[in-house]
Amino acid sequence: MREIAEGVIAMGEFIKVEIDFDKCVGIDECGQCIRVCPVNILMKNGDMPVAVEENEDECTLCELCIQACRPAAIIIHKLYE
Ligand code: SF4
Ligand code: SF4
Repeated sequence: MREIAEGVIAMGEFIKVEIDFDKCVGIDECGQCIRVCPVNILMKNGDMPVAVEENEDECTLCELCIQACRPAAIIIHKLYE
């Protein structure tokens, strides 16, 4: 895993996936983002979700992780806009 900055779990050339760790309740209590991501970008790291670095540019912007995240802890940044 590559740590970009606090709360940033993935940063590709076009897309950055960020998790607010102050809002995320953790994998043991939730983990929905990992279950719903169709391209396996998100994985478990201790009790928190992180991105699989090799897959980070494969985010389809489906927003399933955002919809599944009840505390609204996930932010998708479109760097090309
Ligand atoms: S937007 Fe879709 S593809 Fe991207 S990290 Fe979330 S669930 Fe995975
Ligand atoms: S869905 Fe949201 S609250 Fe649940 S583990 Fe993922 S980021 Fe954390």
